[in-house]
Amino acid sequence: MAESDTLTKEEQQIIEEARRRRTFAIISHPDAGKTTLTEKLLLYGGAIHEAGSIRQRKANRYAASDWMAIEKDRGISVTSSVLRFEKDNIKFNLLDTPGHKDFSEDTLRTLVAADTALMVIDVAKGVEEQTEKLFEVCKMREIPIITFVNKCDRPGLEPLEVISNIENQLGIEPIPASWPLGYGKDFQGIYDLIGKKLHLQKKEEHGAKKAETEICDLEEGLEKAILSDHEKDKFREEVMLTEDMFEMMDQEAFLNGKCTPVFFGSALNNFGLDVFLDYFSELANPPQQYQDEESKDRDLANGFSGFVFKMQANMNPDHRDCAAFIRITSGKFERGLEVTESNTGKKVKMSTPHTLMGDERHILEEAYPGDVVSLFNPGSFRIGTTIYSDKPVKFDVIPLFTPEHFMKVSTKDPFKRKQLREGLKQLAEEGVVHVFEVPNGVGNELLLGTVGALQFDVVKHRMATEYNTELHMNAVSYHAARWLAGDKNIIEKLENSYSTHVTKDMEENPIVLFDSAYALSQAEEKVGTENLFKFKQN
Ligand code: GDP
Repeated sequence: MAESDTLTKEEQQIIEEARRRRTFAIISHPDAGKTTLTEKLLLYGGAIHEAGSIRQRKANRYAASDWMAIEKDRGISVTSSVLRFEKDNIKFNLLDTPGHKDFSEDTLRTLVAADTALMVIDVAKGVEEQTEKLFEVCKMREIPIITFVNKCDRPGLEPLEVISNIENQLGIEPIPASWPLGYGKDFQGIYDLIGKKLHLQKKEEHGAKKAETEICDLEEGLEKAILSDHEKDKFREEVMLTEDMFEMMDQEAFLNGKCTPVFFGSALNNFGLDVFLDYFSELANPPQQYQDEESKDRDLANGFSGFVFKMQANMNPDHRDCAAFIRITSGKFERGLEVTESNTGKKVKMSTPHTLMGDERHILEEAYPGDVVSLFNPGSFRIGTTIYSDKPVKFDVIPLFTPEHFMKVSTKDPFKRKQLREGLKQLAEEGVVHVFEVPNGVGNELLLGTVGALQFDVVKHRMATEYNTELHMNAVSYHAARWLAGDKNIIEKLENSYSTHVTKDMEENPIVLFDSAYALSQAEEKVGTENLFKFKQN
């Protein structure tokens, strides 16, 4: 029986709406060009007519709230928001991930709410550290990854070198989908390996408008290109070598993130963006079914449900408010909908939901799977909280990520110990920081763990302003940490190991800390890497 025979009209509408959504996040290392590319996607997607405004918005926003003082000081973006644009009846939701080196668990969690990752690589640098970390999360989730090699107008690796760099660094199979015509200062266009057309492009001033483009067949284009005969031959050879790879790409492998189509271009000059965006909407995944606690798929049309993947406190310092960002996993969302929190059974009316475009809040009337709504936290929402309207469900999709930075923490004022614990417990529940107790000979002291070092400033700032507690922090040099499943045998083995410390976070999740790379590798040998988790599902 056809799907449409068994579905109600409303269910059909939900599925149709879901199918035209593409919810994605960019994974990249700082400076690879994420902000520039985002802006150009909006330009090519028709959401803005002239590039330059996002940066402007970024600059203006800093004045808006005191909490953002940290961002302002460092000129970086700590929080993420959602950019929406529509092209050819496809609705794109770009989940913005902070791009600074000191990124946080938030950045990683955002990837859990995305159906596709767009990996941006700087042609001169190849795959860099932060991209690798973000890639790990995509790999764990088995989501499709589409690659854009940026800055081809600058000297860098040759295209074939970039391809092997991606393969060697990440162990994913790169499949060329477009190819640069000339590179560095000779970069003059893109060959569309899928449509077999050469796009000769001209720079527009500052790249504010779309690049002037002439589309022609390969040989016709090569005649017009300003390259030596030798370079033209080399280009022909490379095209011959790579031409059929995309057609032969294993769709299943692509959808599971085992191979990645690779596009080349320059976000600054708008080269290669038309080709990229055309295929991106075809390649990017529409919203997928999320699995519930019992590993059962939740049908997209099966009653409203969603989960909180991000909490953002104190967007407005005058009200101690906290926004919860919810990824819709099934059903139709309408303003005023009454939902149930699956943890507590508490009912909440979603009366002032927002969708965010940059920093402008729009009241949202309706939304579908793949969309993100933000809501002022009614109090009990946490990272990972599931909500539903009529058909109960609970998701457990947000993992704990292993902290990489550690600080011992105390309060300067001994009378504030209770506040210290309470405040940290609250921040830990919100997912801002991991808090552990470690013995120090006389008693226990508190240890904070974060994914990015900047997070410590956030904790300090929030403890001072919200809990009136000045923190004293001391760096501790743990080399690495791994979550544990809770197996007593394994814990015992680790407890007896040298330079290895087993402890628990405030939610009683066991974790092991290592003093050195050597201690970690010893432990891996002793209990097996499969028992030491970089991500832990609760
Ligand atoms: P982000 O940190 O990843 O968001 O990177 P940005 O988009 O802020 O870009 C970092 C720098 O690289 C800026 O100075 C950009 O103007 C520059 N940039 C971005 N894309 C290109 C490109 O395609 N070519 C060149 N030459 N520079 C670029």
